[in-house]
Amino acid sequence: MKLGAHIWIGEGLLKTIEVAEYLGCDCFQIFLHNPRSWEIKKRNRDEIIEFRKVLKEKGIEMVVVHMPYILNLSSPDKEISLLTMKKLEKEIEESEEIGASYYVIHPGSHKGEGIESGWKRLVNNLKKFKDAKVKILIENTSGQGNLLGSRWEEFKYAVEKLDGDIGICFDTAHAFQSGYRINTQNGLENMKKEIEKNFPLGYIHLIHANDSATECGSKKDRHYHIGKGFIGMEGFESIIKDGFFGNLPFIIETPKSTIEKDKENLRILRKIGEKYGKV
Ligand SMILES: [Zn+2]
Repeated sequence: MKLGAHIWIGEGLLKTIEVAEYLGCDCFQIFLHNPRSWEIKKRNRDEIIEFRKVLKEKGIEMVVVHMPYILNLSSPDKEISLLTMKKLEKEIEESEEIGASYYVIHPGSHKGEGIESGWKRLVNNLKKFKDAKVKILIENTSGQGNLLGSRWEEFKYAVEKLDGDIGICFDTAHAFQSGYRINTQNGLENMKKEIEKNFPLGYIHLIHANDSATECGSKKDRHYHIGKGFIGMEGFESIIKDGFFGNLPFIIETPKSTIEKDKENLRILRKIGEKYGKV
């Protein structure tokens, strides 16, 4: 089990490694640029070379990039779709340049046009990146509004159509909010069975480890500190001791009032990992 956090990119690429080191991360996640902006910025070549060099020196083997929030890969709106693809092309290119292992996307919102047509648009758009050197992971969602990806059965179509070209990111808070009772051992086992009915577990490459500030099935996406939300310590213990999930990289996206909170959340996960011989 590798442990890491989502780290703010506001002070540049190199600063993220400094923060990761302070937090004791084995891996970490970033946005490449402002996640709420459509603007396309070209990053300085020297900054990228230096980033890769320092990463290597520090022994950090895995960097994950998260797609900006505003992109929507399943939008029925032609203009949004074009803007999304234009920006995503640059994002994937830069992720390859910095040597990222994974690029996490949200499956997007069908905007009222229906889940099926949303996934068709998403899959068609993703086909254009089938030769990317960074592996694209589709993240499960809370099911808020018209978001795709709140049920594991929805992923079956993408796995079949895109085959080995994509992977999946399992967000614990989103799964819980969408109705999977992963706060108990039994609930986790049931969810695992649901997954295996639809695609092999091996498609999941990464865990977004977040507790939930809202109840199971709330469809409200609010992340919370590990062990302090509705998933709780018991939930995280079940996930970490699991023979499959417990060996994946865990990245926290918990509330960031101070950096010490990240440190504390990672400490709790590490402690559970130690208990079950995973770290
Ligand atoms: Zn997430």
